[in-house]
Amino acid sequence: MRRGMLIDLKRCIGCHACTIACKLEHATPPGVFYTRVLEMEVGKFPSAKRVFLPVLCNHCQDAPCLHACPSGATTQAADGTVLVDKDKCIGCKACIVACPYDARFFLDKLQGYFGDELTPFEKVGYRAHREGTVTKCDFCAERTASGLEPACVQTCPTVARVFGDLDDPLSEVSGLIREHDCFQLRPELGTRPSVYYIP
Ligand code: SF4
Ligand code: SF4
Repeated sequence: MRRGMLIDLKRCIGCHACTIACKLEHATPPGVFYTRVLEMEVGKFPSAKRVFLPVLCNHCQDAPCLHACPSGATTQAADGTVLVDKDKCIGCKACIVACPYDARFFLDKLQGYFGDELTPFEKVGYRAHREGTVTKCDFCAERTASGLEPACVQTCPTVARVFGDLDDPLSEVSGLIREHDCFQLRPELGTRPSVYYIP
């Protein structure tokens, strides 16, 4: 099994529900976004429009962050998911420099959203984080281990995101990748992302 995601850019309406669902799932502090939605204006009046590009860790099959990590904190699971072990991370940031997709974040001081006093939600949620280490999207490993979809996939109101087994030719995600002229981000780098896009 190789876990992967397909994002249909024709369906994405730029609502940022995925970003918020992810922040809620992982209780990430201000400035840390495991998934974001980039926006751009294209064309000229009267046919100008905004286009959206949701981005997240690509769980690259040949991951530069994995090669750069000197402590063994970054690993690749058998299902292709690239993970960070906060107990082994020494906070050197080599992986942040190596990642060509800006998908990693350094956890400096774990600040709350509403000043120095953490909310009850943050007090509990921040237990998963450690100051001085690097963090990123893990394809919602805890959710998928119990048969759930990643939070961003479950929340997307337009079903722009599809998650599944790229190795299974019968999975929905594999079928959609076959049917459409999909692309991956920065393929010239040879990272072989596990996130695909329908243009
Ligand atoms: Fe796009 Fe879906 Fe994210 Fe909304 S939730 S921004 S539609 S991918
Ligand atoms: Fe590593 Fe960046 Fe690829 Fe994610 S997108 S696997 S952090 S190189």
